[in-house]
Amino acid sequence: DRVISPDAASDDGALDRAIRPRRLTDYVGQPAVCEQMGIFIGAARGRGEALDHTLIFGPPGLGKTTLSHIIAHEMQVNLRQTSGPVLEKPGDLAALLTNLESGDVLFVDEIHRLSPVVEEVLYPAMEDFQLDIMIGDGPAARSIKLDLPPFTLVGATTRAGLLTSPLRDRFGIVQRLEYYSDADLARIVQRSAAILAIEADQDGAEEIARRSRGTPRIANRLLRRVRDFAQVRASGQISRAVADEALAMLKVDARGFDHMDRRLLSAVIEKFDGGPVGVESLAAAIGEERGTIEDVLEPFLIQQGYLMRTPRGRMATQTAYAHFGLRPPRQESP
Ligand code: ADP
Repeated sequence: DRVISPDAASDDGALDRAIRPRRLTDYVGQPAVCEQMGIFIGAARGRGEALDHTLIFGPPGLGKTTLSHIIAHEMQVNLRQTSGPVLEKPGDLAALLTNLESGDVLFVDEIHRLSPVVEEVLYPAMEDFQLDIMIGDGPAARSIKLDLPPFTLVGATTRAGLLTSPLRDRFGIVQRLEYYSDADLARIVQRSAAILAIEADQDGAEEIARRSRGTPRIANRLLRRVRDFAQVRASGQISRAVADEALAMLKVDARGFDHMDRRLLSAVIEKFDGGPVGVESLAAAIGEERGTIEDVLEPFLIQQGYLMRTPRGRMATQTAYAHFGLRPPRQESP
């Protein structure tokens, strides 16, 4: 298990609920998203309408679920939560839709994984608040139409490109979350530390922030692990030295990389001469799923300039060679 995995882990549960911001003003960073959502929410509330359907995309752990809860909270409506792969049949979606009250938020995580038959039911529901569904099969089958209350669909996905275009076109609001700056992550660490009653000084919070891969979920998890370390080895206080020692013990390096990043980059460098290498070959070489490479491992490496995505495949950059202490392949002499 990876301490810096951006995916939710089982031990994230209860503490996570305590530190998850509930209001837009507590949502750290993402200034453009916050400003726009503040206006759209205020306007919809002023008109007494449901907020437009909203698509939120961005890498795991950046706050898509959090933002959807904030939307419901600020709109003062209920939130129902589901995810693309859970909705297997049109009936699964119909059951959720018919239970919505006027203005409610239906949050669909991993919306790119909806099956085509479920997606078909979603189109008229989003567009005209109409449920149009077949029940039964064979000669007894019949179609029923129902009016739905106006509601807001909030969809979350790791990459907007994975959505079919008819689905994407039905969202009036599209928000893209960016990796957080170290300063924003330090604020998140400080905020969480205060809620969890952990003593962390500014330098300590910054050290954790720097190694959190631009991702709040990772920052919060590292904070909890560093807290354990501080409790046993340093009378509970998180300083830079304590954070540094704890994270070194967890094998998270100064830039927030770990053995998986090292494995991926050293495969590109050593097995494929620095690239370009296709993602399928890379997946086979390191024994990871293609999706894990594309969604979890490489976005941060690319954003930080360690890996390049070219039309012919992935390539390691000079920065990658330097950081991982690997020698660039010898240039062919002409
Ligand atoms: P996603 O749905 O994108 O995978 P989440 O919304 O579950 O990510 O966020 C992961 C955790 O990070 C949340 O539990 C929350 O505590 C924290 N978090 C996310 N975004 C923010 C933010 N903007 N400000 C403060 N904390 C945040």
